[in-house]
Amino acid sequence: MSEKQGKLVVISGPSGAGKTSVCRALKQNPNVEFSVSATTRSVREGEQDGIDYHFLTREDFARRMEENQFLEFATYNGNLYGTPRWPMDAALARGKTFLVEIEVAGTRQLRERAVLGFYLFIAPPSIEELRRRLVHRATNEAEEIDQRVRIAEDEIKAARTEVAGAPLYDTIVENIVLEDTIKEVEGLLWP
Ligand code: 5GP
Repeated sequence: MSEKQGKLVVISGPSGAGKTSVCRALKQNPNVEFSVSATTRSVREGEQDGIDYHFLTREDFARRMEENQFLEFATYNGNLYGTPRWPMDAALARGKTFLVEIEVAGTRQLRERAVLGFYLFIAPPSIEELRRRLVHRATNEAEEIDQRVRIAEDEIKAARTEVAGAPLYDTIVENIVLEDTIKEVEGLLWP
């Protein structure tokens, strides 16, 4: 076991802000481990069970909730998402940086329980640019894009709120050019 306790890094951001691309870059670092969330949403093309998510039925998810298996959980766009508790403890004990990619309500649960970590929100330059990126991505139906834009507006507002007198996120980074954003985030995590 490493003598040094690792560091939890929580990353949030609306769908289309570039959060997943930033996380993909951070995962290249051999000292970074990351959480595979559980979800009740259906599998998207190209996704693999156990790698992108643990895809669960509602019943299975509910059972695990009752068994207190999740560090946090939240509903997003009608589906449940949760972070399994044990991989984080194991990674931190080994001195790793543990990356958790979750939405705002889940982040709030962690903050309310004073879970130590670096909390980062990746924001789009504007709502218009976010919509453009979601349309360009073309993995969503038009109706779903509208829904995601609405959720994004709420998330951006919620990201600027406080928990117990302190900001919910330590930093909000605007992702204009992805390469610059990655460098900025790496500089924040590993100064
Ligand atoms: P998507 O369906 O696009 O993969 O994810 C939808 C949203 O759920 C994203 O904002 C993503 O970060 C968030 N999410 C993914 N896993 C978790 C989780 O374990 N907990 C919470 N609270 N949010 C999650």
